[in-house]
Amino acid sequence: MSATGDLLVRGGTLLTLDPQARVLDASDLLARDGRIVALGAGLEQPPEARQLDARGCLVLPGLVQGHVHLGQTIFRGLAEDRRLLAWLRERIWPLEAAHDRDSAYWSGLLGAAECLLGGTTTVQDIGIGPEAAGLLEAIAESGLRAVAGKCLMDDGDGLPARLAESTAACLDETEALAERFHGAADGRLRYALNPRFALSCSGELLGEVARIAERRGLPVHTHALEQRDETAQVRARYGGRDEIELFRDLGLLDSDLRIAHGVWLPRRHYGELARRRFSVVHCPGSNLKLGSGIARICRIRRAGIPVGIGCDGPPCNNRLDAFEEVRLAARLQALREGPGSLPGVEALRLATSEGARALGLESEIGSLEVGKLADLVVLDDRRPELLRAPGVDPHDAVVFGAAAACVRHVAIGGSVVVEEGRLLGLDEGRIRREAAAAAARVARRAGF
Ligand SMILES: [Zn+2]
Repeated sequence: MSATGDLLVRGGTLLTLDPQARVLDASDLLARDGRIVALGAGLEQPPEARQLDARGCLVLPGLVQGHVHLGQTIFRGLAEDRRLLAWLRERIWPLEAAHDRDSAYWSGLLGAAECLLGGTTTVQDIGIGPEAAGLLEAIAESGLRAVAGKCLMDDGDGLPARLAESTAACLDETEALAERFHGAADGRLRYALNPRFALSCSGELLGEVARIAERRGLPVHTHALEQRDETAQVRARYGGRDEIELFRDLGLLDSDLRIAHGVWLPRRHYGELARRRFSVVHCPGSNLKLGSGIARICRIRRAGIPVGIGCDGPPCNNRLDAFEEVRLAARLQALREGPGSLPGVEALRLATSEGARALGLESEIGSLEVGKLADLVVLDDRRPELLRAPGVDPHDAVVFGAAAACVRHVAIGGSVVVEEGRLLGLDEGRIRREAAAAAARVARRAGF
């Protein structure tokens, strides 16, 4: 699925999401060897260029989901009606412990298919513990751009024996996987170190992650400050410290650190975190479903901390529709801070330009600008929910109107991966069949 040749996207309304959020009406986008080389009206079609019809359609940067668990896609519906810790201990961990190589692989491809069909072109996936390689193979083959790695766990209340790997074994495996997958799939896959959260990791593991991150120049992706009872248990386990204080003491704040959630991120840490390479990935759908709370993302952004967005895992959302997540973020901030506190264009930045910055990829993706990778989504303007009067801000039309079902075409690095709403590089029927068999097998093995 490597990008070759030219791609011409013809005649759309381009929402560039560049620093000025310019909108280019009736314009074309030309990509060469995976990167955008021209934007404008009436571009000449190079010979043999692949052409995508976008006349009358909105074209935007491919959406970036900064926190997902594609390895949980086949657990959808198997962990309802619980708060975080019970959700993990009673349902999710037993299911993850029941994965085999094929179930991890097909779960990953099913999740990737849903992402691609919904306009998500980049994910940051926190992975699974055992069978991580199967999931990483699926992500690499899917066509998605990804930051991904093995989920690291060595110690925690209620952690099944198979997930509680020895500290050394789990770190050795993640380094071996980093060797194999960092830069794989034509550079689309980048490796990250993913300690799950402070309640499933020993202090020794977290400290070693900081050292490996520095030695290998890898980012660190974890969960933190999702629920109050979680942080209460972190304080009890780690001498009264919250996650940020613990991470500071263990050297993790010196890494390129991305935390999912941050619902209860204390304001007293904002100033320090804004000076670090640190970002928060907002997961509003998951935060509502598990009863976690509403993250103060307007305040966090005002402090200068980048905020991305993600659907989190299919069992806590239960969809991987980034448009729905963006809409939810805007609505929740209207409730929390007042209508207009997160306008349409700013909400859309969470899944584009700022979402890219949260993942350290802002020079490569997140906006439609010459020199960036040609990751883009074309929305189908025949959808009734996108019909608008002249003068309506198209960012508002997308944020408050669009859904995965509006996606017409998707390209990643100039390669078309979805055309007219159909996956090109993946066999959707086979993925559905294999994933269904895997879901049944894993649920049975977990005793559900
Ligand atoms: Zn998560």
